[in-house]
Amino acid sequence: MNDISVKEVKGVGPKLAENLEQIGIDTLEDLLYYFPNRYDHYEQKPLHELIHNEKVTIVGEVIHEPTVQFYQRKKSRMVVSLRVDGAVVKGVLFNRSFAKQHFVPGEKVSVNGKWDQHRLQITIDNYKKGAIDGTSPITPIYSSKGDVKNAQFQKVMNNALTSFSDELTEIIPVTYLHNYKLPDRASGLQNMHFPASFQHLKHAKRRFIYEELLLFQIKMQLFRKRNKEATEGNAKTIKMDRVKQLISQFPFALTSAQKKVLAEIFEDLQSPNRMNRLLQGDVGSGKTAVAAISLYGVVTAGQQVAFMVPTEILAEQHEESLQGLLPNDVTLRRLTGSIKGKKRKEIVAEIEDGTCQVVIGTHALIQDDVHFNHLGYVIIDEQHRFGVQQRNTLREKGILADILFMTATPIPRTLSITAFGDMDVSKIDEMPKGRKPIETYWVKQNMFERTVNFIYKEVKQGAQAYIICPLIEESDKLDIQNALDLYHQLVEILNGKATVGLMHGRLTSEEKEQVMNDFAENKVQILVSTTVVEVGVNVPNATVMMIQDADRFGLSQLHQLRGRVGRGDKQSYCILVADPKGDTGKERMRIMTETTDGFVLAERDLELRGPGDIFGVKQSGLPDFKLADLVHDYRALETARADAVEIVANQLWKEPAFEPLMNYLLSQLDIDQQLLN
Ligand code: ADP
Ligand code: MG
Repeated sequence: MNDISVKEVKGVGPKLAENLEQIGIDTLEDLLYYFPNRYDHYEQKPLHELIHNEKVTIVGEVIHEPTVQFYQRKKSRMVVSLRVDGAVVKGVLFNRSFAKQHFVPGEKVSVNGKWDQHRLQITIDNYKKGAIDGTSPITPIYSSKGDVKNAQFQKVMNNALTSFSDELTEIIPVTYLHNYKLPDRASGLQNMHFPASFQHLKHAKRRFIYEELLLFQIKMQLFRKRNKEATEGNAKTIKMDRVKQLISQFPFALTSAQKKVLAEIFEDLQSPNRMNRLLQGDVGSGKTAVAAISLYGVVTAGQQVAFMVPTEILAEQHEESLQGLLPNDVTLRRLTGSIKGKKRKEIVAEIEDGTCQVVIGTHALIQDDVHFNHLGYVIIDEQHRFGVQQRNTLREKGILADILFMTATPIPRTLSITAFGDMDVSKIDEMPKGRKPIETYWVKQNMFERTVNFIYKEVKQGAQAYIICPLIEESDKLDIQNALDLYHQLVEILNGKATVGLMHGRLTSEEKEQVMNDFAENKVQILVSTTVVEVGVNVPNATVMMIQDADRFGLSQLHQLRGRVGRGDKQSYCILVADPKGDTGKERMRIMTETTDGFVLAERDLELRGPGDIFGVKQSGLPDFKLADLVHDYRALETARADAVEIVANQLWKEPAFEPLMNYLLSQLDIDQQLLN
């Protein structure tokens, strides 16, 4: 199907071929996998079952001759009364006065069009003399992107399905089709475009959803296999006694979740297989401690470690916390964009000759001029900004070290096996003991002054507070209270009794750093900020997180923000300021006040707002599925995942039944045939 040009389909001339190409349709397969985005279907139903504003079909008897009004030039409005189920329905037909002759009093007529339930009126699109017999065919409607008309789509799809029926060969092994009761590819395609019934359509959709997910998951499993491939010198000889000694010197005992993930990580580090692991753990669950212990292990094995974080501020903070956790004899350096000239040269030289054992930096760390002496382990913090593509880039740069990605964003399973399906996943699902849960309150906008007073009381006792606003600029449309306004308002209310700082995306990175440092040193007591503080900053003295227009944020984002407080031993508070209009908004505020479990919130977020919100729309790293929906099709996703794992782990492709599937995959993907040997 892939090797047949769409030009070979009857009815596709040069012009249409060009238009099809414009929307990405080059081959027969592209064409047949361009599925309708909806279907029209005229089915006669009793009046009381009709739905307001939907397209309906009505059969009735013409009561008397229609009336026609003409207006403007060439415009007309015909009105006809029909008797339907003992009621009188008004039919309105525009600009087709010639149709009058078809509506003969006493005779039956079928009409379809948009239904107005309140006026018992139908705006007629099509009409036909006589009664239709219950149903008419289900008609595909294709999205009219580009210059291809719906009728053209219908015609060439039909031609393609008829003349190339032999080409629509199966790719899914028949046992799977059988087990899941899925239609074969040819009849599936037929029913996607011209469904024999809605039941057939449903089955066809199930098939292609499964196919899409299975292909995707096999691809992820193949990446996973490739990423884990054993490399020379990857197995590290870790001095576990020194690691244990380090742990014993910590001021706290590890949680059992930390111990569990450390065991998983150490197993990877000591094996010749490369590690490609995602470490998930809620804010404050102790990921940094895990990172420190594991990287120390690699240092004892005589190899270097690169620790990458998204921002300069975080690089500094991590440097500080690692200095606190690691023994003094570990050579730790920070290499970020702000370190320039001679200093930079020195550090780069130390990385090159191996003196520097651990380097912390932003993504600039893997720039071309930095060469490691013996890089054995890469830790990447805040993984969700790093899609599959970027992960592959690391490999392409020849970085074959063990890699640990860390994320504080709780990710629901359906998303994690999709976005991170190529990785192994470790989860810290337990908080260190003795944490005081953050108290969360939801207040209305009109309680602003009271809330500020509350914050002031906390500040007077030495604590600090964040106030978060959604946007920096005033937008008339959205009516969002902006950070600048709020900052001025606050300065006025507090009247010099507390210091207020302002942080937003328009500041230069030096300015941001200055503000952040001032806050970290308690020179700024209340920080008004847009969401730039979201990622990972640690100011344990902060006890209040106030979020303006909280209903504009997703649950996961609110949870991330809330995680900025509650990091010290004092009681912390989160105050959500919002006047949500809809029920969903209220529901979301309520959920926030009821749970502090990030995974619960992430699941709810997925249901309420969809996947984009959890990752942030652009950086999602989620594939663009044609049919599959990660929320709705989670069962199919789990099934496809399990099948893909089995196929790749057991090399099922060596069996004849899997040959078409693997050939298909290899033709679609940039995968080395060797991987399959
Ligand atoms: P994360 O990186 O997951 O947000 P951190 O590693 O920064 O979390 O840990 C948050 C705080 O908890 C730090 O102050 C850290 O020293 C402390 N901590 C980590 N593990 C434990 C533990 N097992 N028991 C008590 N405190 C811990
Ligand atoms: Mg290894």
